[in-house]
Amino acid sequence: MILILAEYADGKLAKSTLEMVTAARDTGRDGPITLLVLGQNVAAIASEAAAVADQVLVADRAELAAYNAELWAAAVAQIATEGEASTVIIGGSRSGREYAPRVAVKLDAPYLEDVISLSASGAGLQAQRYTYLARVTETVEAEGPVIVVTAKPGSFAAAAPAAQPGEQYDVDLELPTSRVTITGKSVEKSSRVALAEAEVIVTGGRGVGNAENFGKFVEPLADNLGAGVGATRAVVDAGWRPYAEQVGQTGKTVQPKAYIALGVSGAVQHLSGMGKSKFIVAINKDAEAPIFKVADYGIVGDVNEIVPALIEASKR
Ligand SMILES: Cc1cc2nc3c(=O)[nH]c(=O)nc-3n(C[C@H](O)[C@H](O)[C@H](O)COP(=O)(O)OP(=O)(O)OC[C@H]3O[C@@H](n4cnc5c(N)ncnc54)[C@H](O)[C@@H]3O)c2cc1C
Repeated sequence: MILILAEYADGKLAKSTLEMVTAARDTGRDGPITLLVLGQNVAAIASEAAAVADQVLVADRAELAAYNAELWAAAVAQIATEGEASTVIIGGSRSGREYAPRVAVKLDAPYLEDVISLSASGAGLQAQRYTYLARVTETVEAEGPVIVVTAKPGSFAAAAPAAQPGEQYDVDLELPTSRVTITGKSVEKSSRVALAEAEVIVTGGRGVGNAENFGKFVEPLADNLGAGVGATRAVVDAGWRPYAEQVGQTGKTVQPKAYIALGVSGAVQHLSGMGKSKFIVAINKDAEAPIFKVADYGIVGDVNEIVPALIEASKR
């Protein structure tokens, strides 16, 4: 089987899970595409997962109420061993990249980290991943009875539902006692859609002018469109926006249906995080700005003049 660790948040299956199903289908490897759902009170997640997978394995346990690397690694290694998984696909989120190497060690498996594509190669897998500040795309191959992979979020298209929903099965786990406990948590709440889930993203660059102008231009346009807000690194480094909004090589990789870039130059490190967006619109006063090379629509003009008109239009 091809084992995928389901990711979810706020009671909903995350888009990254659908992306991993595409990655699994891309491998062309034999065996059912299997989503493993770890957590507590996850019945609704498991039902959503069944729509895209051949089968869903569910471990609904109090000990799994919160993510924990030791427990996740033990659970995944056990299920992969029992199910003789040929491939284990884990999301390239912060937590995924934390426990995936542990799974690889437990399974004595090769580990392909942060891949942006995946395909069959002889008895193994071939993958692509970025290296050298995303200026180089590297092709790597791995062989073995089981291969562990992390998939870079936003790099694969979201899978459409399968023709038939998959069967759901409860699984028994032998979990260790965790030696690490979360003793506190403070959560930053935003009413805006998360970047990884957003179908439309409005991103501001240094050309927006200052932090206040984000409230004047970027946020209202995003809110009228039900969009997420993104930022370039220059903007984050200047302290205008939080790092969570940074798009690019050292920020988030996104693949929305529409990406609207306001005052963004289009540096290679920014493009590597949003270049796969379906439809790119750029507004920049410099006609030679590199962002126009990837834009489907471009307006050469001043953010201060164009964006208020767009905000008015977007109200309609
Ligand atoms: C190792 C490394 C990692 C990096 N990672 C990232 C990353 O993850 N994400 C990222 O974004 N960058 C990243 N960078 C930085 C990247 O190289 C660029 O410096 C950055 O993307 C530039 O941000 P910007 O487009 O906002 O600013 P600028 O490059 O300064 O561009 C501003 C643009 O706004 C236009 N403009 C100015 N005023 C107006 C106006 N009034 N109306 C319309 N247009 C206007 C200008 O013509 C210009 O094109 C990284 C760099 C390095 C070295």
